[in-house]
Amino acid sequence: MAAMNEAAHPVAASVLRGLKGHCPACGRGQLFWKYLKVNGRCEVCDHDLSRYPADDGPAYLTILLTGHLIVAPMLIFPIIWQANPIYSLPLIMGALAAITLTALPRIKGGWIGLMYALGVRDTDGPLHTADAAD
Ligand SMILES: [Zn+2]
Repeated sequence: MAAMNEAAHPVAASVLRGLKGHCPACGRGQLFWKYLKVNGRCEVCDHDLSRYPADDGPAYLTILLTGHLIVAPMLIFPIIWQANPIYSLPLIMGALAAITLTALPRIKGGWIGLMYALGVRDTDGPLHTADAAD
């Protein structure tokens, strides 16, 4: 029930702060200290940022986004997959890499912002998995 009390945070603002790579609580501190490494605590408001689980959610959403932006056009426009792979493969792989590497930290930030807004913590894990049935 403690998680329900923390649901008072605005979802849109928290997700937007995370998408920008900022602390979802104050919006000023940096969320990441490396590419995808989350700061333990916000350097501005001292909020504990390490307690929000990201797990596979950001990776799944990044794959979903990349699939719609790259793979779907490949299937729709035959000229892409009928072209000589010497030309098309570097373009496709470059676009995949660029979109993935650009989107993943932003999506992870937005995901952590959503976890903050919903009051989800890493200690809630057993409540959300099939392991809870054991
Ligand atoms: Zn902060």
